[in-house]
Amino acid sequence: MSHNTSHNQCPVEFRAARFALSLHRAAHLLPAWRSIAAPVLYGILTYAPLAASEDNDAYSAVRADMVEHLKDYARVQDLDGEQLDPEVLAAMNQVPRHQFVPEGLRDHAYENRPLPIGYGQTISQPYIVALMTDLLNVDDDDVVLEVGTGSGYQAAVLAELAKYVYSIEIIEPLAEQATKRLQQLGYDNVTTRIGDGYHGWEEQAPFDAIMVTAGAENVPPPLVRQLKPGGRMVIPVSSTPFTQHLLLLEKTPQGTVETRQLLPVRFVPLTGDH
Ligand code: SAM
Repeated sequence: MSHNTSHNQCPVEFRAARFALSLHRAAHLLPAWRSIAAPVLYGILTYAPLAASEDNDAYSAVRADMVEHLKDYARVQDLDGEQLDPEVLAAMNQVPRHQFVPEGLRDHAYENRPLPIGYGQTISQPYIVALMTDLLNVDDDDVVLEVGTGSGYQAAVLAELAKYVYSIEIIEPLAEQATKRLQQLGYDNVTTRIGDGYHGWEEQAPFDAIMVTAGAENVPPPLVRQLKPGGRMVIPVSSTPFTQHLLLLEKTPQGTVETRQLLPVRFVPLTGDH
């Protein structure tokens, strides 16, 4: 099972991205406008404004089909012989995934595969989103930290289940787009920020659960410290330069950490100067 990070850009999307890149370069010539113009222009070219509720309705049947597919697809060995939690599946049925992908890819939003979201990054495969969410065992009183906001989709799924979600993204324009999108969709129990999630979010810690959605070289010690006793963390960690494994960490009430290696995955790397 692989979390494919290849960039499946369709030709129209690719042309739009190239045009956006040339505008981004042009914006570099105008330093005063650079920080504002490039993300805004990129956003206009690659994302349509969030559509009205009729648009959501147009995708509700295909979203329900995706959820049915995930039920069948769920590999029992990834979940100790259990099926995916119906509450996780219900959350996946609520979140309009097509609003989190570039407009040209909306018709692919409910396929069980990752999609490019710009800046060399991806929105994760729905099965991986469901599995990682399931493994966290989120309760409606929980405060959750996500590292790697990307499109904001995983944060929205977590927000359907948790009391509050904090999410950190290192790429500024992605963070800005995701923040706006989550606000427009009414996810007022999510706060995002720009930064290196390796260091966690000290001011909001401790967390009941932590999810890292980029491949790390090791388990960041600050994240372990910011996990409550009894809390859970899911994180893809490199075992060799070409392989990552999804790890599930549980902090015991006594504060020791138990780690299980679950399945091979492929995520974009956790970047930053940490
Ligand atoms: N959860 C996202 C979603 O639902 O769209 C998909 C995450 S994508 C596979 C990984 C994200 O992690 C990228 O957006 C990337 O920029 C971000 N990232 C990489 N390193 C990071 C870091 N050190 N801190 C925060 N975000 C990081």
